[in-house]
Amino acid sequence: MASIRFEALKAASNRTTVMVEELPRKSEIFGSNVFNDKSMRQHLTSEAYKAVRSAIDHGTKIDRKLADFIALGMKEWAISKGVTHYTHWFQPLTGTTAEKHDAFFETSFDGSDPVEKFGGSQLVQQEPDASSFPNGGIRNTFEARGYTAWDPTSPAFIFGTTLCIPTVFVSYTGEALDNKAPLLRALTAIDNAATDVAKYFDKNVKKVTPTLGWEQEYFLIDSSLAASRPDILQTGRTLLGHVSAKGQQLEDHYFGSIPSRVLNYMRDLENECMLLGIPVKTRHNEVAPNQFELAPIFEETNLAVDHNSLLMDVMQKVAERHYFKVLFHEKPFKGVNGSGKHNNWSLATDTGINLLSPGKTPMSNLQFLTFFINTIKAVSEYEELLRASIASASNDHRLGANEAPPAIISVFIGQQLTRVLEELEGVSSGKLSPEEKTDLKLNVVGKIPDVLLDNTDRNRTSPFAFTGNKFEFRAVGSTANCATSMTTLNSIVAKQLIDFKAQVDALIEKENLKKDEAIFNVLREYIKETKAILFEGDGYSDAWEEEAAKRGLSNHKTTPEALKAKISQKSLDLFEQLNVMSNTEVHARYEIELEEYVKKIQIEGRVLGDIARNHVIPTAIKYQNTLIENVKGLKEIFGADFESVAKEQIIIIKKISGHIAAINENVHAMIDARKAANAMDSIEDTAYEYCFKVKPFFDIIRHHADKLELEVDNEVWTLTKYRELLFTR
Ligand code: ADP
Ligand code: MG
Repeated sequence: MASIRFEALKAASNRTTVMVEELPRKSEIFGSNVFNDKSMRQHLTSEAYKAVRSAIDHGTKIDRKLADFIALGMKEWAISKGVTHYTHWFQPLTGTTAEKHDAFFETSFDGSDPVEKFGGSQLVQQEPDASSFPNGGIRNTFEARGYTAWDPTSPAFIFGTTLCIPTVFVSYTGEALDNKAPLLRALTAIDNAATDVAKYFDKNVKKVTPTLGWEQEYFLIDSSLAASRPDILQTGRTLLGHVSAKGQQLEDHYFGSIPSRVLNYMRDLENECMLLGIPVKTRHNEVAPNQFELAPIFEETNLAVDHNSLLMDVMQKVAERHYFKVLFHEKPFKGVNGSGKHNNWSLATDTGINLLSPGKTPMSNLQFLTFFINTIKAVSEYEELLRASIASASNDHRLGANEAPPAIISVFIGQQLTRVLEELEGVSSGKLSPEEKTDLKLNVVGKIPDVLLDNTDRNRTSPFAFTGNKFEFRAVGSTANCATSMTTLNSIVAKQLIDFKAQVDALIEKENLKKDEAIFNVLREYIKETKAILFEGDGYSDAWEEEAAKRGLSNHKTTPEALKAKISQKSLDLFEQLNVMSNTEVHARYEIELEEYVKKIQIEGRVLGDIARNHVIPTAIKYQNTLIENVKGLKEIFGADFESVAKEQIIIIKKISGHIAAINENVHAMIDARKAANAMDSIEDTAYEYCFKVKPFFDIIRHHADKLELEVDNEVWTLTKYRELLFTR
């Protein structure tokens, strides 16, 4: 069996770099596989083009007749690029993407009139076999059918020989069965709310678009080595394996050059991204060995979310060409850093202003402060919900594991802005004197741009940090679909802006305050109310956990505990009020996420039990037998004196027996715990059992298996070791 490991090692060490040309002018191919504005102009009638444009810009509905023309143009464009199939591309609630390919090709029933067909109805709506996608009971209660509907705000694209049409996935009765539909509704909610507030500062603002720039971290492992590990293949992470002597302590990977095999993979990937219109910009090594990061230029949130999902797909496919496997898991290896997906978020107006970027005039800075403080207030009100939005079995390994943001949500804003808020806190109540106004304008609000220029202190331990002209939500997991966190963040800020506007308007009408006075008054109260959420210190420290508890901040370290906030009355009201999700839709997601949690831990438990018993124990026994033979031989030669020469061997023989017994007992106990968990009445109880009764066995079993790895002859050990996985490139 050890031969699999050694064959994999041989294959990995014999790899040659798959050379890929660096394209000097990426702009020339950018978006050439996307049905973007340019190709729409070329392939659509002007009426059809206008209809799509208006749907994108203003959310208007597209007439069925025009849909036929759009489909025709899209088909001609696609066929001219060698496309044979089309698919409705969507994001079911499992976090991945789904597609079912249909050929353009059609014939009459008797096989005559072969033709490539694609009409408006195929473009606009499809009915995939929905029964296999999770629905959290929505379809059981209402109707069994689900359908996908075209989302014109995200352009169709070609992948391979397939035309992919981004769609939402909804039940027959209109409930969202995917991640995209609620996101689109949240984007509408924040557009409306933020536009209303932005109008205080500029009457010409008609639309506010949330922007997202994600940073994707990942590990690259040689494909043969990955295939030699049943745990990596089935769970995306290593369930056991002794930490290698060398890890990330020298930081030589982070600061070193990108290995050439990897660089060629990155080039190939970037070329694919360019064709697909994904504007990737940066690539670099990350902290852990064989860990890397890639980030694009930020985009409108819906498109950015689609691009991240698509990218994760493309990354895996391109990796195959280079004999790599991409590990997106948040914690694929013990003892070295895990992976996250920072979500950089801001708000942009159709007048070209970043609302989280200070401007040149006191008024534009007051606008900045308004959106800045309202975001802090939103996070402060809904920190628990924000934590819930990033909860998953795999992200639990990261949050609170002293290397990634803690499970406590707090906001970092830097010293200078902290000082600005302190000064604003002293603003008088009610009407402001002319002197106070002047002082505020000149000395507080007016100084912000200068202040931010040298705002260089960045706190890497903060889960939600202001970084100059955007907030960076760092606690998002590397496997996550950004849609869930973005739906929540945009919803809570939308709700907050609606409340803010109501308060400001009330002060203007009832107290007869001027607009800026009213704004200062409301912001001042927010500053007082949000002190608990602001934290500038070390988020990894124990002291912060204690302090956060005193401040009343939540600290949910596990998914079942964290998810609960999703179905709180406060959360249900929020999503319902904003028309983002009905109570049914929220409950459905809660159930699905608990189910997914249970399935993940269940699979990990099974795989761990399997490799512990079928790889580790037999290997240990094999080595123990060698030792026993050795001891027998020594006894033959030395007779009664053998014990002095066989002393160490005997100790190891006993140690091995001890570890084998411990593994066996604990695997049995874990199986019993799984049975008990499966027998629970509700999915909630099952999830808690898996979390607190099943999962603890993982560490115990791993401990004994890893000890055996240290004892057993390297030549017979079957599982590819950490040093091999992490340092082969
Ligand atoms: P880092 O956080 O690694 O130091 P940067 O701060 O330069 O890097 O930017 C990180 C990410 O932030 C990039 O992906 C970029 O596209 C994104 N970003 C920059 N400005 C905005 C914005 N206004 N809205 C959303 N994302 C943004
Ligand atoms: Mg960052």
